[in-house]
Amino acid sequence: MIKGFELHQGKLPLLISMPHPGTQLTPEVANGLTARAKKLEDTDWHIPKLYQPIREMGASILSANYSRYVVDLNRPSDDKPLYTTATTGLYPDIFFDGEPLFEAGKCPDVQARADILTNIWQPYHQALAQELARLKETFGYALLWDAHSIKSVVPRLFEGRLPDLNFGTADGTSCDPVLSAELLKTSEHFNGYSKVLNGRFKGGYITRHYGAPQQNIHAVQLEVAQCCYMDEESFAWSDEKGTQFQQVLARLIETALAWGQRHYG
Ligand SMILES: [Zn+2]
Repeated sequence: MIKGFELHQGKLPLLISMPHPGTQLTPEVANGLTARAKKLEDTDWHIPKLYQPIREMGASILSANYSRYVVDLNRPSDDKPLYTTATTGLYPDIFFDGEPLFEAGKCPDVQARADILTNIWQPYHQALAQELARLKETFGYALLWDAHSIKSVVPRLFEGRLPDLNFGTADGTSCDPVLSAELLKTSEHFNGYSKVLNGRFKGGYITRHYGAPQQNIHAVQLEVAQCCYMDEESFAWSDEKGTQFQQVLARLIETALAWGQRHYG
């Protein structure tokens, strides 16, 4: 079995978590997906590439290898719904648009799901918790950035077109409010990129569970509209848009790191 994640340990008090860029499938899931689902359209495409300059800056990077169609690492292990509006669960059985992912009767069974939880979900979260503990031990605090992207138009999940930058801080509980305010302020300088804080995407399980400002762990989720850096139809990376957007990300990350230094320095 392929390992569930890759962890790169950096030299900054910052961990970038990437729960959804993976494209690996377990045999049971591969065997059950419909022809449409095998194209994995709901993947957070190219996220490691998008954050490559942030990795080079010195951030730690935790990225999932398995597809969210196997298990959604940004959902709690008890699968309690995160949103009162339409959403997808721990073991997704539908596309974002509501169509079934699996051929009739071919969803992974209870045992297959239990194995997935043990072999993929738990190791990712163990690695995440351990890396945050290492950063706190080293620096006295840790910044957790949960990196996502999604198609800019998904009628079942949200109305109209999503803003380009969707910051989520669990309605202000997952990080110091000054940090989120500074991220928004930095975003004012990006011509042509729209933004929102705690709009449709307020931060999923990772942001809500690990963000603990009183314990010096500050978590922010950034959901990026995929049209900012790729072609949403072909899923192809766009060099022109991607390179430009990487500069936006670098400014945001620099803002977060500067806040950390000021706050804890
Ligand atoms: Zn995602």
